[in-house]
Amino acid sequence: MRHYKPNRSLHVILLLLSTLVTSAQAYAFSDASDAATPVLNYSATGPFPIEIGSNMLYLRDPEHVLDIETVLTQPPVWETIDRPSPNFGFTSSAYWFNFKINNASDQVERVFIELPIPFLDDVRLYRVSGENILEQQFAGDIYPFGQRPVKHQNLVLPFELAPGHNQMIARVATAGTVEAPLFIWDPEAFTVATADNRLIQGVWFGVLGIMVFYNLFLFALLRDRSYLYYVAFTSSYLMFEAALKGYGFAYFWPNQLHWNSYAISVFIAASNLFAMIMVISFLKLRTKAPRTFNLLAAYTTVAGFMFLLSFVLPYTNTIRINSALGIVTCLLSITTGYLSWYHGNRDAKYFCLAWSSAIAGIGVLLATKFGVAPANFWTNNAGQIGVLALVTLLSFALANRFNREKELRLNAQESSLESEQLVRKSQEELLRSRLDANKKLERKVAERTETLEKAMQELETVNKKLEIMSTTDALTGIHNRGHFENNLQTEFQRAVRHHRPLSIILCDIDHFKRVNDTYGHKAGDACLQSVAAVFRKRISRPGDLVARYGGEEFIVLLADTTIDQAKGIALALCGEIRAMHFIFSGKPISVTASFGVSTLNNVGAVSADQLVTQADLSLYEAKANGRDQVICWDADRNGPEKNQILSSYQA
Ligand code: GH3
Ligand code: MG
Ligand code: MG
Repeated sequence: MRHYKPNRSLHVILLLLSTLVTSAQAYAFSDASDAATPVLNYSATGPFPIEIGSNMLYLRDPEHVLDIETVLTQPPVWETIDRPSPNFGFTSSAYWFNFKINNASDQVERVFIELPIPFLDDVRLYRVSGENILEQQFAGDIYPFGQRPVKHQNLVLPFELAPGHNQMIARVATAGTVEAPLFIWDPEAFTVATADNRLIQGVWFGVLGIMVFYNLFLFALLRDRSYLYYVAFTSSYLMFEAALKGYGFAYFWPNQLHWNSYAISVFIAASNLFAMIMVISFLKLRTKAPRTFNLLAAYTTVAGFMFLLSFVLPYTNTIRINSALGIVTCLLSITTGYLSWYHGNRDAKYFCLAWSSAIAGIGVLLATKFGVAPANFWTNNAGQIGVLALVTLLSFALANRFNREKELRLNAQESSLESEQLVRKSQEELLRSRLDANKKLERKVAERTETLEKAMQELETVNKKLEIMSTTDALTGIHNRGHFENNLQTEFQRAVRHHRPLSIILCDIDHFKRVNDTYGHKAGDACLQSVAAVFRKRISRPGDLVARYGGEEFIVLLADTTIDQAKGIALALCGEIRAMHFIFSGKPISVTASFGVSTLNNVGAVSADQLVTQADLSLYEAKANGRDQVICWDADRNGPEKNQILSSYQA
């Protein structure tokens, strides 16, 4: 099929550009007051549509003073249009057009005359003959959608063409840009073309709609506001296109004439506002580029006000401002995008690609329309394709940014995990070195303890030795006098307590001085050792005690021993000493000894010292009595027991 229609995206651009150039417009109109009315040939066989384009005469009516009757009765001065399309930009003037259709057939033909600018306010088309109106059709924003002669988003006016020339007069008045690109259709061809066109438009709106819902869903899921702004921008732009192309009026608000007259301006303002918010949010300008953010925030505030004002101020005013802002929005978005990219914002890459696609699409469209690029399906629809690419790539940019941020988060998590592991490792090392130190310490302590224990043991040994030394007589190896006296008190008290007998034997070697004198002091010492050995051998019962009492004196403490038992022991000792064969330096030496015995009996309160004294007195008695004998203390007589013992054991 042939894509005849001026692309709506182109229309947007032209709408925007015309804002800029309206003031600089210097349209040269030919001064042909007698210009012949152009004639367009109609043939039922096509091809369709027949584009009228600038093949019309026109008339400007700034004050809206003309009506069809005046035009027919007082023919005005028509002028030719010497520009490629009948576009007059933003103007408050009403425009009149004059053209002829030549029906080449010999029968009446039904045709549709289409004006694909749905937002024109008031379009009137007349088929006239002389001063008579043969047929008239009205369409435009000021009439409810239901009143349209053909229910179509564009303005479609059905007419009948009589064979031969048909004089047509049209009037266009609107608050926006005045354009009158008229097309003549065979109704059937029109229906087919409409179906094809709606399919393409359906796909376009469908894709945008899907992007809106898809990103809305993503917002619900990810809670990233950039998605919400994207959704707001895309749906605003979607609605802007819907309003611009007449779908809004045809399907959404067919009876809201008042709203319909504001809708385009409101949606273009909303697109501006949300595009800017989206740009700021997506590129994170607040933190990444505060100065750019301030500029864009100020502009966004203006866009926000314009959005609100678009609901209340006259369309004629707001549409111009909003269209101009649309260009500013586009330029700001792409400039900011590239600046961000230049300054290292990696998310800006796809963002720039997106906006570049849109602008490239619009560029291709403009090139096509100005004849620089060949006109085909792709170039004719480049604008819409560009917007589609913009919306798709922006969604992709959002996804990409999300992925990248996720990656960053993951990396951060990973590195924090790594440092955690590092911390754990060093903690383990610390613990290990502490354990090591503890072990070393323990080892040292053990070593020290061992040394200490050893020292203690040595000390104990030494102490024991000392104790033994302090209680032992060095020469004979038996206990010394000190040890005896210590034990005497204890044993004495125990004997008293338990009412047990306790005996003491005191011994003195007889004429020992002579041994020393005769054989020498060393012989004396050896003699003393031999006598001690006799004592040690005989006094072996546990609890009994032998000690060297003086020079050649020995003392025996016998616990639990009666006087008779003690006497027996003393006599035995006496005999053994006497019988002792002691040889020193090859010479036999013999000695005797005298014994004094005393016993603690139950009767008589004597002290330990008195007991020793009694033994000593008895010993003295034995010496006096001739030596080599045993004398016992007679407790009854309170003196030594003289005769019996003496007689029994005297040598
Ligand atoms: P008596 O029968 O009266 O006891 O006469 P005695 O000579 O044994 O008595 P006296 O007390 O006069 O002499 C004791 C002597 O014992 C004097 C001293 O030289 C000697 N003597 C004392 N202790 C030791 C000693 O450890 N070694 C030697 N070799 N002689 C000693
Ligand atoms: Mg003596
Ligand atoms: Mg003596």
